[in-house]
Amino acid sequence: MASSPELKHPVKSFAWAARDKSGVLSPFNFSRRAADGHDVQLKVLYCGICHSDLHMIKNEWGFTEYPIVPGHEIAGVVTEVGRKVQKFKIGDKVGVGCLVGSCRNCNKCATDLENYCPAQILTYGFHYTDGTPTYGGYSDIMVVDEHFAIRWPENFPLDAGCPLLCAGISTYSPLKYFELNKPGIHIGVVGLGGLGHVAVKFAKAFGAKVTVISTSAGKKQEAIEKLGADSFLPSGDPEQMQAAVSTMDGIIDTISAVHPILPFINLLVPHGKLIVVGAPEKPLELPIYSLSMGRKIVTSSSIGGLKETQQMIDFAAKHNILPEVEVIPIDYVNTAMERLAKGDVKYRFVIDIGNTIKSAFDMNGNS
Ligand code: NAP
Ligand code: ZN
Repeated sequence: MASSPELKHPVKSFAWAARDKSGVLSPFNFSRRAADGHDVQLKVLYCGICHSDLHMIKNEWGFTEYPIVPGHEIAGVVTEVGRKVQKFKIGDKVGVGCLVGSCRNCNKCATDLENYCPAQILTYGFHYTDGTPTYGGYSDIMVVDEHFAIRWPENFPLDAGCPLLCAGISTYSPLKYFELNKPGIHIGVVGLGGLGHVAVKFAKAFGAKVTVISTSAGKKQEAIEKLGADSFLPSGDPEQMQAAVSTMDGIIDTISAVHPILPFINLLVPHGKLIVVGAPEKPLELPIYSLSMGRKIVTSSSIGGLKETQQMIDFAAKHNILPEVEVIPIDYVNTAMERLAKGDVKYRFVIDIGNTIKSAFDMNGNS
């Protein structure tokens, strides 16, 4: 630890980190680099809890290095700028999503697809080029190259808006790329959680007819009355699933756990597209025969590039698309993770980092 480059950095920061695969988060001291060159430093005000945070703190994907400070739905205010910064000034509101670096050279970076750069650096659980681990937004301060910071739309709430930086872009990007943003088409959204409920809102804003496909019958009324879905399909009801066969042009599947995809392929029209954005810990079975009968497509998508993330949040602000959030203090985070694992959240937890991290840190001690 003593030789770790992170300890050489001058900006003291505190955070909540998981130390092992129990995933339990507790106070953690570390340091970040000073804002130099194109860097901006921000005071983190809010950070959403993505299911990916839960996968990572529990090492469900098998590559977690501890300690890990999760958080990639970060909203805050700029407190320092490096000498070369052009996009931001002190006091500006900014967002940071899932990426804090990429090579900036390859053809993916050159075409605003940093999210597919082979040298991408994720906001947490990765390493900067000097070897320093990346630590995410469950921390009081972030330092990030301005290229990877998003300009916050005016009069747009930071607390409810921050989940868009992952949940938003991860659904907006595939809806657009796979041409499922056309008015009048029928979109299914599987799994009404953080990503799913935002997918409903974007698909509606694009003019689609939207059906929520869910294991939770109790979400029906809200899906329709609050989120604006046109209909609700309980995935556990074989008769209703049968009645919906061959009706959907595209489906966004956000389920976080291993599950069969055949029932959703059956819902597609010929040439329909099933986009699996959920990231279960084990591979899913691919029923080729049912794809061939209608030349259907199963694909996936990962977050989005910086330019598209900016477009997404500007679009959200223009169309008043805001996630439904439950704002919590940081010392509630372990309970929130337990509730998220059980699907007990409508529909995104957001941690009030700005008001609670310091006091919770002082009360809980540190290590
Ligand atoms: P979430 O809030 O927990 O929502 C997941 C939803 O899936 C649940 O609300 C539930 O919806 C459904 N579900 C959960 N377990 C299920 C099971 N065993 N069988 C059937 N349905 C189940 O999670 P999230 O934050 O939206 O993230 C969803 C997934 O997307 C995670 O795996 C995450 O890592 C991944 N992700 C991917 C990207 C990307 O770029 N591709 C980006 C961010 C996150 P119902 O109650 O309605 O059934
Ligand atoms: Zn995420």
